[in-house]
Amino acid sequence: MAAAGEVTAKGMAAVAEAIRPGVSTWELDKIARKTFKLLKAIPAFLNYGGFPAGICASKNSVVVHGIPSKRNILKEGDIISIDIGAIYEGFVGDMARTFPVGEISDEAKRLIEVTEQCFWKGIAFAKEGCRLGDLSHAIEQNAKDAGYGVVRDYVGHGIGREMHEDPAVPNFGKPGYGVRFEKGMVIAVEPMINMGTWEVITDEADGWTVRTADGKLSAHYENTVAITSGEPRILTIP
Ligand code: MG
Repeated sequence: MAAAGEVTAKGMAAVAEAIRPGVSTWELDKIARKTFKLLKAIPAFLNYGGFPAGICASKNSVVVHGIPSKRNILKEGDIISIDIGAIYEGFVGDMARTFPVGEISDEAKRLIEVTEQCFWKGIAFAKEGCRLGDLSHAIEQNAKDAGYGVVRDYVGHGIGREMHEDPAVPNFGKPGYGVRFEKGMVIAVEPMINMGTWEVITDEADGWTVRTADGKLSAHYENTVAITSGEPRILTIP
């Protein structure tokens, strides 16, 4: 799992380096695929449930599952969420980041920062003996304190030989409830935070693209995290 996480992070680093005004999300996808090929890994998202690309590239009001396209060209002031996963020697890594394209507004910056902060607040409870609801609640509370909406229709997940395993890891919940974490469990923790409403809609034309219902910005931050007897091990941060 650690090796798969490392490979995933290398794919993300290669994509991150290419993000700038004028680049298309199709080019970013090509970079991810090329990087994984060199590392002898397989893009975990490609053909997953029929998804047609190696990464999800979700711009501005797109929450998740944006399909890379030659026509989708990044411009100054956009924010772009990249969700990327690799299968390496039979194990899967999964991570997401939201990047600024050039200079972005202060409110967009704050959304990106708070979304990452939600992850760290949550994984303070990714410890043996804590419950899933403790982690979920910490994420929800941090987002709500900032005045943001927490996406409810999409959640984190267990991860291992498959990308999506039990348990579901929601970004909202009740402290003291849910499965108790045990050493050796690996989960993908992924707050998806909206500037406005938590509600989302799926594009009917492509069947994939998930947008905020109010058209406001959304950010995403994800890592693959291993529960140990001490502090959690974050496998997708080198
Ligand atoms: Mg995930």
